[in-house]
Amino acid sequence: MTNHTIYQGARVLVGDPRAGSFQDVDVEVVEGRIARLGRDLEAEGAEVVDAGWAWIIPGFVDAHQHMWQATMRGLTADFTLADYVWVIRRNHSGIHRAVDVYNGTLGAAVGLLDSGTTCSVDYNHCIVTPDHADAGLEAFVESGIRGVWCYGLYDQPATTRTFTSVEQRIADAHRVRDTRSSDLEDRVRFGIAPTEMSLVGIDQIAREMRVGRDLDCLIHTHTNARWRPGYPSEIQQLAQAGLLWSHQLHSHCNTADTADLALLAEFGCKVSSTPETELGMGMGYPIAAAADRAGVAAGLGTDIQSNNSPDMFTAMRLMLSGERARSNQKALEEVGIYEMEGLQLKAADVMHYATLGGAIGLGLESECGSIDVGKAADLVLIDRRGPRLNPSLDPLSTIVMNATIADVDTVVVGGEVVKSGGRMRAELLEKATRGLQESGAYIREQSQAYGGLVPPKPDWWGADTAGSGAPTTRA
Ligand SMILES: [Zn+2]
Repeated sequence: MTNHTIYQGARVLVGDPRAGSFQDVDVEVVEGRIARLGRDLEAEGAEVVDAGWAWIIPGFVDAHQHMWQATMRGLTADFTLADYVWVIRRNHSGIHRAVDVYNGTLGAAVGLLDSGTTCSVDYNHCIVTPDHADAGLEAFVESGIRGVWCYGLYDQPATTRTFTSVEQRIADAHRVRDTRSSDLEDRVRFGIAPTEMSLVGIDQIAREMRVGRDLDCLIHTHTNARWRPGYPSEIQQLAQAGLLWSHQLHSHCNTADTADLALLAEFGCKVSSTPETELGMGMGYPIAAAADRAGVAAGLGTDIQSNNSPDMFTAMRLMLSGERARSNQKALEEVGIYEMEGLQLKAADVMHYATLGGAIGLGLESECGSIDVGKAADLVLIDRRGPRLNPSLDPLSTIVMNATIADVDTVVVGGEVVKSGGRMRAELLEKATRGLQESGAYIREQSQAYGGLVPPKPDWWGADTAGSGAPTTRA
């Protein structure tokens, strides 16, 4: 690999993607960073790549993702969130071995990279033993993706539990942070993912969130996400307990109202929406656009590969459609189609959420999320030659509304080319696929002991018992 490359002749989305500024400039990459943007760049010794066939956009940033679940692809297509909590979180997570977390994380990350996502958060809530934590982080680092790997403090429902208290889990998070510092450098950062408040209450949440403050790292949470009548706002509870601060990324927040969003804005918190799971699994409408209007930085994520692909093109379009469906239906019923105001959420907005908005959410906006001099060279080259992308009267709108993963020709992370000619690096692709297949087969076989891949819900299970923290009751 050369550490000095000039991508020549492309149309490049420069600066905040929301501005939609495509420019005919060359991109010079030196030592993994964007050194210059300009016309007819030349430099002695640089490798010159003819990119006249491409739009170059910043790599996508996935702002909510549980990578370990790639081991269960295709399982939750017809699940509600409650089905998911029972089957995946309360049952299958407990039988995942460390190697399965490794295989899921590596497979998920390779899928993300293949899709044009160069940076992701990983909320790992499958840490059954210390080995599971090490395996997840190791796979994240090995994949070559950028991002924040978050230690999930969730109490695992394994039959035999290694961790029997929150103190042990917190101590293990410190162990990972302290002993794996060589892995935790610029490209991969450490974060904390507290348990859901609906499962453990505010006192334990306070202890878990202070770990993040002590370690000065990202805190990535599920917040205001489990809608049921009469359940109080978690954002209000966090505010009252003095637990909101800026280095926090709150995912979902579907039940957040105007007052909740004002609190998140006041304390500098960020949010991420996952339209495909939120719309499909009964969680509510995505909050990103409302948060954005309230002054809260918003990103998009693809959440769980047990349900859907890590495809940010789809996430952008579902975000647009979901938000528009909500506001349009209201206007249709009130004033009708001809009196309706124009659409508020624009294609450029969702492109911003999928890139720079997510980077802000992860605290990585100085590193990635846009193509600017000084940032890491996290680039996606979209092949714009085919009939599906021509004629393009507006490149940004064409990408948001028409492009697919099939158009992602080249993916670059920190100057490293991980995909070119439409193919991921062969050895990484083969290893990831083999690991996913092995772990998928193992989970299918092991799950037979408690009812198979979709074990029936017992009578006792429901809103009040969904997260008792006790081991699963399977025999
Ligand atoms: Zn999640």
